[in-house]
Amino acid sequence: MTATLQRGLNALREQIDAPVAAFFTSCVSCGLCAEACIFYRETEDPKYTPIKKLELMRRVWSREFTLFGRLAGAVGLVKPVTDDDLSEWEELIYDSCTMCGRCTMVCPVGNDLTMMIRKMREGMSASGHAPKELIGAAERHTDLGSPMGELHPALVAQVKHQEKATGIKISFDEKGVDYMVILSAQEIAEFPDVIGSMSRIFKKANLTWTISNEAFEATNVGVQLGNRDIARVLVQRVVDAAEKLGVKYVISPECGHAYQALRWEGPNLIGRPYKFGVVHIIELLDQLREEGRLKVDGKDADKLTFHDPCQINRRGGINAEPRRLMNMVAENFVETEDAGTMNWCCSGGGGAGAIERNEDLRLDAFKLKKRQFEKVGPDKIITMCAFCHHTLEDKLEANDMDIEVVGLTDLIAEYLDEDTDGSKA
Ligand code: SF4
Ligand code: SF4
Repeated sequence: MTATLQRGLNALREQIDAPVAAFFTSCVSCGLCAEACIFYRETEDPKYTPIKKLELMRRVWSREFTLFGRLAGAVGLVKPVTDDDLSEWEELIYDSCTMCGRCTMVCPVGNDLTMMIRKMREGMSASGHAPKELIGAAERHTDLGSPMGELHPALVAQVKHQEKATGIKISFDEKGVDYMVILSAQEIAEFPDVIGSMSRIFKKANLTWTISNEAFEATNVGVQLGNRDIARVLVQRVVDAAEKLGVKYVISPECGHAYQALRWEGPNLIGRPYKFGVVHIIELLDQLREEGRLKVDGKDADKLTFHDPCQINRRGGINAEPRRLMNMVAENFVETEDAGTMNWCCSGGGGAGAIERNEDLRLDAFKLKKRQFEKVGPDKIITMCAFCHHTLEDKLEANDMDIEVVGLTDLIAEYLDEDTDGSKA
């Protein structure tokens, strides 16, 4: 047995706890999770059935943690996991799973398959069976501060540009403010206008905020790769910066897995609660709306629809907030089929969108989104995750579909009532 295989199996063993045992003992092999998965649905290839993706972990659990499995293993009925198995499963665990959480929603015995995929990624990455793109992104993130490399100069330049465009000063490392904003690399590189949008909205709402020079990056490649140590270091960076500045809240931006990593996984990763709250930008905008501190002037006359990012809605619980905001500014808002908690993934989440070799598979998976959008026929698709935004633009173009994609924060800012006085109603 090679050292890397041993490391991977050890990492898998470490993941096996009571919930994992409960998972495998309660699975009734009904196969319902298959129809919930965009990759199985669009290819009908049985290997993409979510429960099948967990087969290697089931084998480790069975052979080493159950009496029957030990006996069956001794007579060759349950095979040990080999390096070749792990190589084969790399595609199933990374390329064909966006950790969208849809399979978890349909399991009749309440098994959280997505949590299990997350656990399996720990073993896969420890054994060296993870996509090179995610390994490279994790190295850049830990060494240079962002999965795209050294992004701080680009952030400073984008902030200056937004200050010029809006006439509003944006502070770095300001102590005593209420909020610290973090941004995803995708926003800094591709959708920087969101910085100006937040700046204008926050000024009207009289909200005090800053950006940390030390921890401005919101994403967490450790979670996507399946490496708790890296994930912990990246969460700790944000926690240290926020606690040093003494802010009351960190604003998680329009990024799906960033929210998941910081709000839900983060305290477990660092082993303690934060001294600040985490709020998603759309939750905050909805709160400002509720308090009368966010007012709009006019509505968009185009037909608008909304794409729910899996990690923010299904896995994060933010469902009603974007709809209340959409209704503020949309004259003609039409939901797609399965919108909300059962929405279909954009096909690029969970790190899958960074993997080059699965491009054709993701195009196949996107056919489902394509049908959703074709039924509605929107002029614009609104979303609240920069990576969904990027994936939707990319896949719409690949399908010759001329539909504009807009971030919800930018949409709200477009209709911001400049006469808002910012005081609480
Ligand atoms: S999390 Fe989503 S992509 Fe992954 S197996 Fe489940 S349904 Fe499929
Ligand atoms: S839906 Fe649940 S019980 Fe059915 S096969 Fe999948 S994991 Fe097992």
